Amino acid sequence: MRPSKFRPVLLLAVACIIALAAFSSSLQFSASAQEGISPQTSTPQPPPEGNGGSATWTVEDVIFNSEYPNGGKFNIKASSSAGNIVSAAVVYMHNPSSKQRAFGRFDQESGYWIADFSGNGVPQWVAMDYYWQLTDEAGNTYQTDMVNDNYADTRREWNMAESEDIIVYWERTLPEELGQTVIDAMRDRRDFYYNAWGKLLSYRPRAILFNGDQPAVINEWAQGTTTQAQGSTSYLGGFTTRGYGAFVGFYYASRGMTDNRFAYGTVLHEVGHLYQFENGGFGGAANVWFSEGDAEYNSADRSGLRRALQDAQDLAASGDLPPLSEIGSVGRMAYDVGYSFFAWFTEKYGEGAHLELMQLIGRGTGVIKSLERYTGMSFVEIETEFRTWLGAPNAAPPTIAPTPTFLMFASPTFIPTKAP
Ligand SMILES: [Zn+2]
Repeated sequence: MRPSKFRPVLLLAVACIIALAAFSSSLQFSASAQEGISPQTSTPQPPPEGNGGSATWTVEDVIFNSEYPNGGKFNIKASSSAGNIVSAAVVYMHNPSSKQRAFGRFDQESGYWIADFSGNGVPQWVAMDYYWQLTDEAGNTYQTDMVNDNYADTRREWNMAESEDIIVYWERTLPEELGQTVIDAMRDRRDFYYNAWGKLLSYRPRAILFNGDQPAVINEWAQGTTTQAQGSTSYLGGFTTRGYGAFVGFYYASRGMTDNRFAYGTVLHEVGHLYQFENGGFGGAANVWFSEGDAEYNSADRSGLRRALQDAQDLAASGDLPPLSEIGSVGRMAYDVGYSFFAWFTEKYGEGAHLELMQLIGRGTGVIKSLERYTGMSFVEIETEFRTWLGAPNAAPPTIAPTPTFLMFASPTFIPTKAP
């Protein structure tokens, strides 16, 4: 893995590149979500057994104050019939599987317990779902109900729209219809996600969409992020992490982006990463081609995917196609070649192969081992067959001396611009 030309975005983030050329092709999408597949829109969490112990608890006030981009403060005013509260901690999460805890301090003057949210590396408008755990001096513990709030940004104007599939926040300077197009794309892709992953996400994801032509906003919480690679024609299209329950997207009106292209390309790609995080299938730094290729496979910008396959075929024909393990996160190669791999894989083994493979990976079998187990071939044999299918004259993957692996890595989606 080579270090990205992008300055470090965020540790453990998945960033992604998008192609911005050739916006002229018309988009055609088949729609209609199947009856009966309903997204989960809330995750009610019952308090634990024996909540509160022998005491009677009173919660007078509970609130989260966003101080975006500087984090925020959780506040609670509560009491126990058995004595003073001696400790208070808040458990908060942006999605159900990434809980964090912060201990509170008692403010004598106001009578509130207060805990801090740092906001470090976290975009505005992620979900802020939280509950408090309180202990009184008699040793009783009490857990409050879950509160659903947001990490709100009041510095600028935002649009918001929601459906059962997604919550969309987009800057007011972006097209007004963008939210509805994203909602449409998510509805149209619901069946695909269900079939590809065996279930829908356990939470309602969020899209946080920035105007890529005014990139300063992102620097409020991800300092030093640039949206264009130096000396490259690629642009940062979006990124996400395991903890967000959301993704960040960049919309570039100045580069001919359209709402459809953005929604069916970038958005569905990033949501593909959210499915990877929840089910397995995120290949990590060693298998960028796998994660990004799979995210592309989850997207539905047909003209973009046609071009990705064509570019991979051209690269293969040139004789310069590197082994998959050597494809890093710079430029579009991981996306184009990785997508082509999934095109080959599902053509050979059928559409259901995606789910079966991801279920193997989800059981803790690694990406490469799962592929070998599924196909009954060694990885070299798999790669040789894929390269042959793609049109490489040198079908056996070339042997390359191992290079050091960088553990900290951002996996952005990039939008490559190509000469028209
Ligand atoms: Zn990606």
